[in-house]
Order: sequence, then C-alpha cells, then structure tokens
Amino acid sequence: MSTTLITNIGELTTNVGSSGGDRFGTLVDAAVLIDGERIAWVGSAADAPDAGEIVDASGRAVIPGFVDSHSHLVFGGDRAAEFEARMAGQNYAAGGIRSTVAATRAASDDELRARLRGFLDEMLAQGTTTVEIKSGYGLSVEGEERLVRLAAEVTQEVTFLGAHVVPAEYADRADEYVGLVTGPMLDACAPHAKWIDVFCETGAFSVEQSRRVLEAGIAKGLLPRVHASQLGPGEGVGLAVELGAASVDHGTYLTDADVAALAASDTVLTLLPGVEFSTRQPYPDARRLIDAGVTVAIACDTNPGSSFTSSMSFCIALAVRDMGMTPAEAVWAATAGGALALRRDDVGVIAPGARADLVLLKSPTRIHLAYRPGVLLVEQVWKDGVAVFTAPGTPRGTESHGPVAR
Ligand SMILES: [Zn+2]
Repeated sequence: MSTTLITNIGELTTNVGSSGGDRFGTLVDAAVLIDGERIAWVGSAADAPDAGEIVDASGRAVIPGFVDSHSHLVFGGDRAAEFEARMAGQNYAAGGIRSTVAATRAASDDELRARLRGFLDEMLAQGTTTVEIKSGYGLSVEGEERLVRLAAEVTQEVTFLGAHVVPAEYADRADEYVGLVTGPMLDACAPHAKWIDVFCETGAFSVEQSRRVLEAGIAKGLLPRVHASQLGPGEGVGLAVELGAASVDHGTYLTDADVAALAASDTVLTLLPGVEFSTRQPYPDARRLIDAGVTVAIACDTNPGSSFTSSMSFCIALAVRDMGMTPAEAVWAATAGGALALRRDDVGVIAPGARADLVLLKSPTRIHLAYRPGVLLVEQVWKDGVAVFTAPGTPRGTESHGPVAR
C-alpha cells in the first residue's frame, strides 16, 4: 500500500477556506493521507484512515510546500562585492545585471546545471517544492535558449526573460534589442518556456518596449508576467493588468491607481521582500494592498544582485515584520498566493486531489516562521508524495535529497 498518513498534526494549514470564515483553512488535531503523488484525504486525526506508513507529527504544524513564483537561478558568478559596496552606501541600479551576464556567458552548461541543482536542493531543504525560474543572464539568442533549456530540465515553470536589461553590445540601441528579443530569441526560447516576462523600469525597458515584448510572447502562446515598480513608480503595473498578466512582481512603489487596478483584476502582486532587505529600499505596504482587495504573493527573487536569499521563511518574516502582514497572510501568500501567481490550483493547498507537497515544521504553529527568523524550522518535506528531505537529527527516516522542484 503506497499510502502515508501524517497524523497528530497540531496545526494544519490547508489554504482551503471554510464557511466559518477562516480563509486560511486551519485545522487542529488533523491528519493528511497521501496516496501516490496526490493528497487523498484531509480531516480530523480521530477519523483518520489506515495507511501503509504512519508519520506521527506529535502536535507540530504542517503547511503546504512553499511555491516560490519568482527566481533567477541559472547564472554564473556572484556579486558579493557589489553587496558589500551597497551596504557601505552605494545605490542599487539595474545595470548591475550586466556583470552577471558576463559571468553566465563564461560558464559551461555543466557549471550552470550544477549550480542550479545546488540551489534547488537548498530550497527543498527549506520547504520550497515548486519554483519558477527565469532566464535573463544570456541576452543573446544562444545564451537565452541555453538558460531556458537548463531551467526546463528542473521545473515546468520556466520564464523567458530576454528583456531583463539591454546588453552592453546594444547600448543606445534598445529598440533594436527588443526586435531581437521579440524575433529570433523568442522563436528559440518559446518551446522551452511557459511564461514571458519583462523588466519594465527606468534603466531597463520602457512601457512601450515592454508591451512589444509581452504581446510578442502572448502571440507565441506564452503567458505574461512583469517586473515593475521596483525602483520607482511607472506604468508597468497598468500594462500587466491590461494584458491579463498572472502576476506583476516587486511593486515597491505603487500609486493609488495601480492598487485600484490590481484590486479589480486577476493579476497577483508578488512581493519580494528580500529585494528591499538587500537594497535598503523602503518595504511596500502589504497591508494597504490586502485591505484594498489585491491578491498578494511572496517570493524570494533569488538572484545574485538584488536578493540572494532562497529562504521563503525569511521572506515571510520580513513580510510580517516590515510589510504589515499577519503570519497567516504571509504563509498563505508564500503558498496559495504563489500558486495563483503561476495560475496553478494543484499546489499551494492541502486538499484531496492536490499534489502531495507538504512541509512538517519543527514548531507547533506557522507563526514560528516569522517569530523565529533565521532558524531552520523545516523537519520533513514531501514532494509529489515522496519524502525528499528530512532534517538531520530527526529520529525517523534518513536524511535525503530527492529530485528537484517542478
Ligand atoms: Zn526578478
């Protein structure tokens, strides 16, 4: 019998809202039955069915695996010196991306692949079971095709971001570069990608150029998502909403019109608090967004320039401490919110039929994710029903690193 019952769960976050008004769907003294890759049953521990394997959660909390809907994991080099200089007072600028482009172009496929798998292992050990990965450090037809191809080896959530920044060799010829992105580069990358993305920002791409990129991607069957309003207010949020983007990401500087447009749309606003942390920009006010009716996700934006954390729990702690979210809202945003930002309904929830992606915490409640920042609270992780990570020192099972995130 290939079933596993996780029982005696003190606090189970299902993200399935109840008629009682708990939109986070929290059950106490609960159990979850895994059958193969899927969740088969959720309910009270007292009513739990029998199973081939029983895992006793001993009163601890279980949450859905984190859905990290924004990352840049295929790159060479790092920018530690730039971070150090920034902490000493230098400002962050979009142009820093170009130094990672040079290091990425110099790296072999196997070097990039090894690095990528290392990041995915580190994410899995921190409870992230679904990850979106963008290209954007190749910025040539061959370079971008290589990055989306490598990303597609490890996840189905691949984003073509040829319009990350204008490469040095196209300086002062941005429109010509957009022509390359929307032409041969898109043709080469679209077969490996689900999403099209653009960095709509001063120093990157104008709103007109961003529209060209997104519309070309949509015409090729890709789904739009947008980087916008990271460094200052702009028109990127409006464009994302107009084009029906699944998500617009950053939103550090939002106008009232942006907030109203988001609230009236299906576009998720994905907050990336690791960026504000690492660039010392002001944190956006998540309370303002949520109170206005905007659907909010949280992601790490793991990248070597503006946010080199892969810890969703660290981002949750920042969102609670500095963005005005409750712990329950932040955990929801890092799981169900991320799933919505990827237009997925099979992850980010614990419900019959959903993928069996679950995290058993060492703590009795999800609140500890924000309350104990920087502490490794993940005890065990299941992905597609397989126990892929068990923390060292955990009595049952053995430590293992399984295959990588979808
Ligand atoms: Zn990004």
